[in-house]
Amino acid sequence: MKILVLNSGSSSVKYQLLDMEAKSVLASGLVERIGESMGAVKHKRFPGSSREETFSYEEPIADHAKGLTRVVGLITAPETGVIADVSEIDGIGHRIVHGGESFSAPTLVDAAVIEGIKAQIPLAPLHNPGGLAGIETALRLLPGVPNVAVFDTAFHQTMPPEAYRYAIPKELYTELKIRRYGFHGTSHFYVAKQCAKLLGKPFEQTSCVTVHLGNGCSMAAVKNGKCIDTSMGLTPLAGLVMGTRSGDVDPALHAFLADNKGLTIREIDSILNKRSGLKGMCGHNDMRDIHDRVAEGDHDAELALKVFCRRVTQYIGQYMAVLGGTDAICFTAGIGENDPVVRQLSCASLAAIGAIIDAERNMSAPRGQVTEISTPKSPVKIFILPTNEELEIASQTLEVLANR
Ligand code: AMP
Repeated sequence: MKILVLNSGSSSVKYQLLDMEAKSVLASGLVERIGESMGAVKHKRFPGSSREETFSYEEPIADHAKGLTRVVGLITAPETGVIADVSEIDGIGHRIVHGGESFSAPTLVDAAVIEGIKAQIPLAPLHNPGGLAGIETALRLLPGVPNVAVFDTAFHQTMPPEAYRYAIPKELYTELKIRRYGFHGTSHFYVAKQCAKLLGKPFEQTSCVTVHLGNGCSMAAVKNGKCIDTSMGLTPLAGLVMGTRSGDVDPALHAFLADNKGLTIREIDSILNKRSGLKGMCGHNDMRDIHDRVAEGDHDAELALKVFCRRVTQYIGQYMAVLGGTDAICFTAGIGENDPVVRQLSCASLAAIGAIIDAERNMSAPRGQVTEISTPKSPVKIFILPTNEELEIASQTLEVLANR
């Protein structure tokens, strides 16, 4: 079985073609700057294997349809491809950012589902239109191949109202559906399942805190296999400090900035999403650059690192408290998997509440591999568990297709 996974943004399409028997990636790539005067395509076949080959192109890509046509061409052409014909693709899994309250599971795409995704656009105006363009293009270009929508919000739909409701007037929830939704759900679900496997426990009996630290950062509290709380909110701006996003700030900040700096709501939103977080504090949004600056004695970079890690500590503590007992804390994504300093700083004070990091194991952990980094006596295990959102989207797609 071969599944094509598409992650369509407003001006980009990321893709992977997976062989589900071998659980291997046959091809992957990125089409960028769709709709601009010059676009870019990066394509790999057999990535991560000894046969890996990379192809890069600069060319105008007018719209998503042109982009996806290019992808299909690349994966089927003899010089760059991995399959002879699109008929070898058994299904397409689409990452859709917002499923609102309508979608709590991956769903086979039909006309009603498309309408359902459209209905969520007010909640994700920057993200859902790209996902929809991906679905509509796939339906046109690959007729007969079934499409499945996999929602970033779905895993968090099991949160109880006391976790997802904000303390604001009730009608803002009933009229506009303003509530906590949470994102990165596919990653949190995948990592929590991997955690259960590692512990040798059924997923339904596993409780853990999943800590996704990448470009975007979020955390989830998982109790007996179900998400009961998560750090992102109505939008992916809430919670942890991120590369360019502030995470939690005083909600009165907008009014303060409008009054004292004359900024518009749009300008403030842009500052908090694009010019804040690590970048806002020290000018760098990549954690590797921040470590380089810290080594040179840059105090802003040092403080940004401390603020980032303190927020992680605070959320882990909060979630251990609401879980009332947890099996493990699981670090994942670019920073979580690769950065021993961030893990050490984030966990340093958690020994008092049962999670004891082993400094030696943490520092010597191989990059990006499943590793236990707590001491043997730690009541709560601490793991590095690499995430794989594409594999999870493909697996969920396959499951939906098998149960049709
Ligand atoms: P992701 O969104 O999961 O791809 O994570 C991307 C982020 O991970 C980058 O912006 C970096 O901040 C961080 N990252 C990647 N590799 C490393 C590394 N070796 N050490 C520290 N941070 C890293």
